[in-house]
Amino acid sequence: MAAPDHTVEAFTWHFLHEINFGQGVDLYRASANDKYLALARTVRHYLAARWLVNLRHQHETQSKSVAYLSAEFLLGPQLENNLLAAGLEDIAAQSLANLGIDIEELRGVEVEPGLGNGGLGRLAACFIDSLATLNVPSVGYGIRYEYGIFRQTFVDGKQVEKPDNWLAMGSPWEIAHPENAVEVTFGGHVEDEGEGRRWVPAWSVLGVPYNYMVPGYLNGRVNTLRLWSAEATKAFDLKIFNAGDYAQAVRAQTFAENISKVLYPEDSTPQGKELRLQQQYFFVACSLRDFIETVLPEDYDLHRLPERIVFQLNDTHPVIAVPELMRLLVDERGWDWDEAWAVTQQVFAYTCHTLLPEALEVWSVELLGRLLPRHLEIIYRINEEFLEKVREAYPGDELRVRRMSIVAEQPERAIRMAHLATVAGHKVNGVAELHSQLLADKVLHDFAELWPEKFTNVTNGVTPRRFVRLANPSLSGLITEAIGDGWVTDLEQLRRLEPLAEDAEFRRRFREVKALNKRELAETLWVRDGLELAGDAMVDAMVKRLHEYKRQSLKLLHIVSLYEGISSGRVPLESVTPRTFVFGAKAAPGYVRAKETIELINAVGRTINEDPALEGRLKVVFPPNYNVTLAERLIPAADLSEQISLAGKEASGTGNMKFALNGALTIGTDDGANVEIRQLVGDDNFFLFGMTEPEAAALQSKGYEPGEYYESDPQLKAALDLIASGAFTEGDRGGAAGSIFSSLTERDRFMALADFRSYMDAQARVEEAYADHEAWSRSAVLNVARSGFFSSDRSIRDYLDRIWGADPVDHS
Ligand SMILES: *Cc1c(COP(=O)(O)O)cnc(C)c1O
Repeated sequence: MAAPDHTVEAFTWHFLHEINFGQGVDLYRASANDKYLALARTVRHYLAARWLVNLRHQHETQSKSVAYLSAEFLLGPQLENNLLAAGLEDIAAQSLANLGIDIEELRGVEVEPGLGNGGLGRLAACFIDSLATLNVPSVGYGIRYEYGIFRQTFVDGKQVEKPDNWLAMGSPWEIAHPENAVEVTFGGHVEDEGEGRRWVPAWSVLGVPYNYMVPGYLNGRVNTLRLWSAEATKAFDLKIFNAGDYAQAVRAQTFAENISKVLYPEDSTPQGKELRLQQQYFFVACSLRDFIETVLPEDYDLHRLPERIVFQLNDTHPVIAVPELMRLLVDERGWDWDEAWAVTQQVFAYTCHTLLPEALEVWSVELLGRLLPRHLEIIYRINEEFLEKVREAYPGDELRVRRMSIVAEQPERAIRMAHLATVAGHKVNGVAELHSQLLADKVLHDFAELWPEKFTNVTNGVTPRRFVRLANPSLSGLITEAIGDGWVTDLEQLRRLEPLAEDAEFRRRFREVKALNKRELAETLWVRDGLELAGDAMVDAMVKRLHEYKRQSLKLLHIVSLYEGISSGRVPLESVTPRTFVFGAKAAPGYVRAKETIELINAVGRTINEDPALEGRLKVVFPPNYNVTLAERLIPAADLSEQISLAGKEASGTGNMKFALNGALTIGTDDGANVEIRQLVGDDNFFLFGMTEPEAAALQSKGYEPGEYYESDPQLKAALDLIASGAFTEGDRGGAAGSIFSSLTERDRFMALADFRSYMDAQARVEEAYADHEAWSRSAVLNVARSGFFSSDRSIRDYLDRIWGADPVDHS
């Protein structure tokens, strides 16, 4: 079937059809949810027609695809993105207006699928958008969590987590295919069978695929995102039902469904929980089977698998796919080990996302052997053959052998998933220049020495469709008026704005856009949370997961220090630049220090916001539940972007890119992609501060004493003492205030105090620069003009060139 016509009449016909026959109501009785669902399904009609064409073409041409394996896809709201990609924005607006329906109200009904924690999951979502827009046949594989990242609320300033029941009203964007369910097995033992080994599993679950359409921007390409949901197998059920134990059968069902029940809410510090390993194996086993048995023709010669697919591993979460593919080839198809290994190495590539040692996943041998006994054997064999090569290359260097082994012996016998991924993948990439350098120099140094050609960099990016075109319609309009609309798919065209930075009229209009975005943010936060901004003051934003390495506490020290200066009378109020400090951050529920930081930020915020002397001057707003929807509102309104991690700890960051593209200036350390942002936008348009990575490493090894900074810097001491005095916590010197005080002055793992002075100086430069509106907006325009590099389209082109090889671009 062809797509419906791109006319208001056709759109309206389909919409009413969906209201009547999809929702089974008359328009006059339809609820906002009915209308939202009908609207979404109408958009789906348009996309599905192209989807089927693409799938048919792919089937006929047997072209190469990219499979992006990721435990998280932080998609954000779908309606506006799909309307945009399908070229239906105006048609839908007109059609609904004719029917007297407010499209804004329907947008408000949508619940975003929060199937990710933060940067890593959002990156996956940007990448599938870019893959489709670049016309690359591709499929995203992941998990359809019934509950995504928790909904954050504050009670007395403390984080309280609420379940994210995003499916309560149903999702109109997914299509379930229970008839294509795949069985995944667990547990049991391994037996000898003829020449080989045979896994006799103990239990199994079904993976039911849910398909989502992933449309490219106005190019007629629609790819697939396939998320797996766990269900109990019929056979398992039946056995127990027949035994007459109804309750036990229902328990079995619940047990199976648990696997895709909830997203683990840890970002950067995963807990090595059994259910998490079940999730990981569940989704990659489903995905491999799906590709090999459903997508490929029945008689396909798997020796040619690398001609058809590359599996990109988004961090180590999907790495168990490596022994799984080996098992499919060796055990189930009787292949020779070396043959299977050659194919396996060609089809996998690994993206590493971290530098924090605690974020490198390891699975205890005890757990892995219990859950996936055959996979453990396969990993051992991969390791043996690998270590043999290491011994050949470095005879007698047993220390190196132990360092490089996939199997760690201390503190318990465990599998290092990053090592397995590095050994198996044909390429390993970091996510920003500095990060890739540090991977090769430190985290995976031995491997980079052995296989220098394996290591490469692909700097992250963000999709300009969502994070500029949709999030910032006013700026988009201004840009398009100036340089045409080619930038939406060719973001380097923003360079053509550079001369306009010198154009006073353009800068005035640019400021108007920023002011409008601030008013809209103020409206959003007022309606959403009853929060007020400080008039049209500078918007200074730090939004990202709450983690010590990101150093929200350093931001807090700046705010407390400003407040302390004013309230002690040392700093005249008139000299303070009016600012609204905006925080957005979820803390992992078990991460006590992070939760205390939230509590303290809220306590400081309350004190400042209630001080009548500071009215209209300083505000601290911390809207709860930072997510993609909120990011899209907040980032376009920001003047200053806080990217203040300890150098060497933030792999890349992508929030930093979103801000620069929306004309915020960055105050940041020499870390992650900040390095590249600064190189591109220029030193004059970026506020750099803090230690470099080598300086931080040197200080660490020399022995870092935060107390020395506390004692020797009176301004720092005053700020910390004010916190410790209970001034913000109703006199309570213990609790969050006491805990943050002692953690900073005694340990300070991420050396916030060492960078405090430099940060304060940089903030003084910010104030000075902001006072000159013309110069500031010139810098802001230059940030936009020079950040085109940070499009995820460019990242995907780099993956194609450096990692995926061949030519998976569809030229039809
Ligand atoms: C972009 C984004 C992130 C990542 O932000 P960083 O500053 O790079 O950590 C996290 N959460 C959401 C909702 C985002 O949109």
